[in-house]
Amino acid sequence: MSNFKLIFLFLITLLQTDFAFSEIKVLLLDGQNNHNWKATTPVIVEALERDNFCKVTVSTSPPKKSSQDEWKTWKPNFQNYDVTLTNYNGEMWPEDVQKKLINYVKGGGSFVVVHAANNAFSNWTEYNTMIGLGGWGGRNEKSGPYLYFDDNGKLIRDPRPGRGGSHGPQHEFVVKIRNKKHPITRGMPLTWLHAKDELYDSLRGPAKNVNVLATAYSEKSKRHEPMIMTVAYGKGRVFHTPMGHADYSMKCVGFQDVLRRGTQWAVHGDVKIELSKNFPKSDKISQFP
Ligand code: ZN
Repeated sequence: MSNFKLIFLFLITLLQTDFAFSEIKVLLLDGQNNHNWKATTPVIVEALERDNFCKVTVSTSPPKKSSQDEWKTWKPNFQNYDVTLTNYNGEMWPEDVQKKLINYVKGGGSFVVVHAANNAFSNWTEYNTMIGLGGWGGRNEKSGPYLYFDDNGKLIRDPRPGRGGSHGPQHEFVVKIRNKKHPITRGMPLTWLHAKDELYDSLRGPAKNVNVLATAYSEKSKRHEPMIMTVAYGKGRVFHTPMGHADYSMKCVGFQDVLRRGTQWAVHGDVKIELSKNFPKSDKISQFP
């Protein structure tokens, strides 16, 4: 083989390697939420677009009590994106949007779930299977088990009766890594202090194919509650974090690294981005301005 051919093949290989981790096209869904989505969506966009890591397109649903005709104008086109992120907690989507999302993820799409998006759609079985765990909306033992770690570090699936979803007053809390080999958590300090946030406890759901990568101890539930999760759903990959109540919670460097890595993992099944140099320490939060 000539040198020219060798160099050519080398360049092609380089291009392919780069291509696999090129700018990720994100479709972010919002428009209804019992949280201040108009404040949190820009923080999510900023976190994902830093260093041209992602290009985010925001698709805002019609507001509450819109007519069917208004809903018909909202057509998020999942297939045009590498990953769909939901910052939505509101009225049920039209049936064709539901079906398209399910088909997209089942067929190998990528889905990212942040905080109150896991409150949405308590009666939509496929959505709940896709996100693994959820809270509120009348969720109870019929929704599936609680999922948490006990004090001995054992993952518990607990079918006992009770409501799904709860939290105490907001506070800073320690995130404890449970799987340090997973691409999302690799290299993180085994405990790190998350900025002020709601610590969701007692989430429950189908909890099928859920991999809990990190937990936080809730004084309210007395359990180690899932904080970083992945879910295998059909051929698709789902990344789910119950963290992120408010803009200031999302300014946590740890939250943003988790979000960026979780998004990259959902798309590629691997992570190539380094942790931030100012990642939180076990006793010290770190926030973007
Ligand atoms: Zn909240």
